[in-house]
Amino acid sequence: MREQDPKERIKNFGEVPYGYNKEEAVAEASRCLQCKTAPCVGGCPVEIDIPGFILAIKEERFSDAISIIKRTNNLPAVCGRVCPQEDQCEKVCVLAHKGDPVNIGSLERFAADWYRENGDSCETKTLGVKAGKVAVIGAGPAGLTCASDLARMGYDATVFEALHKPGGVLTYGIPEFRLPKDIVMKEVADIEVTGVEIKYNYIIGKIKTIDTLRDEGYKAFFIASGAGLPYFMNIPGENYNGVYSANEFLTRVNLMKAYKFPEYDTPINVGKKVAVVGAGNVAMDSARSALRLGAEKVYIVYRRTEKEMPARIDEIHHAEQEGIEFHLLTSPVEIVGDETGEVKKLICLKNELGEPDSSGRRRPVAIEGSEFELEMDTVIIAIGNGPNPVLLETIEGLNLNKWGNIDADENTCQTNIEDIFAGGDIVTGAATVIAAMGAGKHAAKNIDKYIRG
Ligand SMILES: Cc1cc2nc3c(=O)[nH]c(=O)nc-3n(C[C@H](O)[C@H](O)[C@H](O)COP(=O)(O)OP(=O)(O)OC[C@H]3O[C@@H](n4cnc5c(N)ncnc54)[C@H](O)[C@@H]3O)c2cc1C
Ligand code: SF4
Repeated sequence: MREQDPKERIKNFGEVPYGYNKEEAVAEASRCLQCKTAPCVGGCPVEIDIPGFILAIKEERFSDAISIIKRTNNLPAVCGRVCPQEDQCEKVCVLAHKGDPVNIGSLERFAADWYRENGDSCETKTLGVKAGKVAVIGAGPAGLTCASDLARMGYDATVFEALHKPGGVLTYGIPEFRLPKDIVMKEVADIEVTGVEIKYNYIIGKIKTIDTLRDEGYKAFFIASGAGLPYFMNIPGENYNGVYSANEFLTRVNLMKAYKFPEYDTPINVGKKVAVVGAGNVAMDSARSALRLGAEKVYIVYRRTEKEMPARIDEIHHAEQEGIEFHLLTSPVEIVGDETGEVKKLICLKNELGEPDSSGRRRPVAIEGSEFELEMDTVIIAIGNGPNPVLLETIEGLNLNKWGNIDADENTCQTNIEDIFAGGDIVTGAATVIAAMGAGKHAAKNIDKYIRG
């Protein structure tokens, strides 16, 4: 896919890939073999009729293409941009055996973008008897999907969201250059057409609890509060000015629009040298954002090798193209500040790889005497997130697992409290958008079964 030149794009927050035009989309769709067994469908967590929508694109029936996708996926412009298709539908596409699978994600993105620019809403509100009130906690991909499916079944679905905008990580985490926010808002607006009500600035666990909502007549609950609590390294110096969790950093850039300073009076000063600790999508997003905010040097500091990096290959590739430097097999051991409390240096140790750990990846082992220093103005810690306890602490008797995530049935999403269901990152720990959406769909089906007895 055509994309912005790396030299230009590091000066702006505009989207990097341009997307297919009509001719390119039709040509790519024509490569699909329309396999009878369609293994690609099984590779999609929300089971989109992939050959069906691709055939519609090939025949230039774009409105049909989006209707087919929207039967099972109500965030197609989002998924077309951020889903790891290389590990899902495209991985099992029969053409993948020859090394060149159909570019399913880009075709999904094309259909969704065509619809946003040319189509009328293909959503409608389900009329008829309301089957009861359901409360969904969190307006991220899991919560929005569950609420939308419930509304389509005729339920009165209300989403309670802590922030002032919907989308969860799609809005506060993933930067504009990967996922423009007007695209997220348009897809959420379409979900609202189905009858979903979203109440903002509403922290369940503070303003109201599950118990008070139960008293107000809600018959079931879906907790989709994500993994919003950042982990730190617990090394000396993490409280200096200039040290951020990736969560705070990206929220300030995206939700508080630091990148639009002075239009928005919420700037963020990254200085000249920035280190991002970690190598997942969150780390790549932080590094690439810091570069666009004016940093001269941005480093990824990662304790293993490139092979073990959890980020999508595309994201690593984009970061490399943009000039992000990688310090691999490197672990920070201390952050040093000056007398005014500002970050000055990051002290690191070099590692070698030892035996595999519980994740199956080879464990990094520090090399004695390998300590070295990097001059630094900002350190961003992107080593993962856990569940936020604010809501969980208010639900008496709810079973959690050893990481503090909700213990919910993998298939039904039901917890040990029969009217409480849970899904997305709050159950699995930090995962993917489409996995969260898949959980939202399972939960909606099983909430329906539960309410109908
Ligand atoms: C920077 C970043 C980049 C990522 N990149 C990708 C990617 O490229 N591809 C991909 O597939 N995945 C990516 N992910 C992961 C993906 O975004 C998540 O797995 C997904 O968003 C999880 O969805 P969710 O609905 O479970 O939770 P979230 O998206 O976290 O949404 C949870 C929502 O619940 C709200 N909430 C929390 N507590 C309460 C409460 N007590 N009351 C009310 N509301 C509450 C939060 O404000 C939030 O809006 C990325 C994650 C991050 C952080
Ligand atoms: S597996 Fe690949 S070629 Fe076959 S139907 Fe799916 S997308 Fe088309």
